Amino acid sequence: NETPKTNFIHQEIDKDLSENKNGGAVLTRFPPEPNGYLHIGHAKSICLNFGLGKHYKGGTNLRFDDTNPTKEDTEYVESIKEDVNWLGFQWKDEPKFTSDYFEQLYQWAVLFIKNDKAYVDDQSAEEIASQKGTPTMPGQESPYRNRSVEENLDLFERMRKGEFKNGERVLRAKIDMASPNMHMRDPLMYRIIHAHHHRTGDDWCIYPMYDFAHGQGDFVEGITHSICTLEFEVHRPLYNWFLEQILAFQPELQEQARPRQIEFARLNLNYTVMSKRKLLQLVNENYVAGWDDPRMPTISGYRRRGYTPESIRRFADQIGVAKRENVIDVALLEHCIREDLNKRAPRVYAVLNPVKVIITNYPEGEVEWMEAINNPEDESMGARQLPFSREIYIERDDFMENAPRKFFRMDVGREVRLKNAYIVKCEGIKKDENGEITEIYCTYDPDTKSGMEGSNRKVKGTLHWVSIEHAKTVQVKQYDRLFMDEEPDGHKDKDFLEFLNPNSLSVINTAYIEPNFKDAGAKFDDGIERYQFQRLGYFCIDKDSTEETIVFNRTVTLKDSWTK
Ligand code: ATP
Ligand code: MG
Ligand code: MG
Repeated sequence: NETPKTNFIHQEIDKDLSENKNGGAVLTRFPPEPNGYLHIGHAKSICLNFGLGKHYKGGTNLRFDDTNPTKEDTEYVESIKEDVNWLGFQWKDEPKFTSDYFEQLYQWAVLFIKNDKAYVDDQSAEEIASQKGTPTMPGQESPYRNRSVEENLDLFERMRKGEFKNGERVLRAKIDMASPNMHMRDPLMYRIIHAHHHRTGDDWCIYPMYDFAHGQGDFVEGITHSICTLEFEVHRPLYNWFLEQILAFQPELQEQARPRQIEFARLNLNYTVMSKRKLLQLVNENYVAGWDDPRMPTISGYRRRGYTPESIRRFADQIGVAKRENVIDVALLEHCIREDLNKRAPRVYAVLNPVKVIITNYPEGEVEWMEAINNPEDESMGARQLPFSREIYIERDDFMENAPRKFFRMDVGREVRLKNAYIVKCEGIKKDENGEITEIYCTYDPDTKSGMEGSNRKVKGTLHWVSIEHAKTVQVKQYDRLFMDEEPDGHKDKDFLEFLNPNSLSVINTAYIEPNFKDAGAKFDDGIERYQFQRLGYFCIDKDSTEETIVFNRTVTLKDSWTK
């Protein structure tokens, strides 16, 4: 029932297919660098790439772009696989790693040198940068640009052997220092990094740059459409240049599929930061409890918060794929999860901030089991048994003394309905020395039990409740947005951390929930239990819960603020 919208990339691919490019093959890839956990921006790219792979029945590779050993780790590799699977996608064959192509990339680099298309530069990064020129001014050629092929081959081999320190030498492509495209001004191909790599260990101390690795990785894997974000548009000529050189050096490779880069606009969300560097900082400096803290915009954070994979896929589909950047309202994401949980989450009763109600004319010791519908949106979810007794909890906010007429809850002298039970009338209250209400006294009308004729009487206000004797105690964590500013990392004069919301987490250590809530059938396909606490919001059971201590995370409140 989920048929994703088509977009301009479908049109491009359809055109390639109509021209029988690559013999009609379509293969896409999702290429994360394993230097952090995936965030909601990556989810857009995942849904797009895997969606295309599925639509054209060609599949999608998962490729770890692991060319920077100092920042990468297997922990990230594992989390990325888990998140892609959880979102509902399966990559083709085994996951791929750019590091598996290091030898091939090295051999290609040697071919570039042999064909006088690359040279070793002894200058520092600063010197090289100072010679780049400006878009309107040509750059300056390196004094090492015209080294002999033999000298370049010797130096590059010695770079690989580890004879030089970090930064002492680089390999550069020999293209055009006057090109109007800055990326074509003799870009770096390799740099020296003496560091342990999470997969190749200490085999290498030279590492390919993104531009030299990415297109070649695509080519090795037979990727036909290499889809990336807009900032790579200016890299596209270089992407093509490297491949064209290789095909000229090795004409026999012309038989293979030729990848094509297509760019789309990245996802920007208000009230959110998405750079992995900043997310890492939030984790490392303990502003959050980890990458999967429910306030994080990571896929694992949203999962822990109670978001469903369906809601995230739906969101990705709703925002669409375009060529122009914009900022999406986070309220749309919240709208998508509400819509999904409204259909699928069972309703249960929980009281978060309790006040005791005694129903004075209800027999002591008596318990009635009320039938409660699990989900009015879905009859197939059935019903469960809810205990009612003389002493119950209601929300403290659901009582107000001398309430205005428009307050449709409880006040002395007024009637309200206890959902699934009786109509009760408040007769009085008891307060402690601080004026805080400690008990509320009500009488009930036995003829108004849910389902009976008498229950049709009109009363303003229906409250949720739990039977004190039967209720289970649980911990509840309520989350609010992590940042108070619409664009926390968009201020020149202020650090994004200044906009952290000090009240983004509030913990209720003792909340009360009906005893049979587990019977409501809240387990979703991913094993996570998700509920609607009636009148309060959507909640899920946190992964660190135990039998003794159940922890609920609030996913989202009930009130939708999304407007088209
Ligand atoms: P960051 O800038 O947050 O560090 P990144 O782009 O460096 O992210 P990668 O691991 O290189 O992270 O990204 C993997 C893929 O996800 C890339 O193809 C990239 O274009 C895509 N991607 C990353 N961020 C977004 C985003 N906000 N919207 C859409 N796609 C994104
Ligand atoms: Mg990055
Ligand atoms: Mg990147």
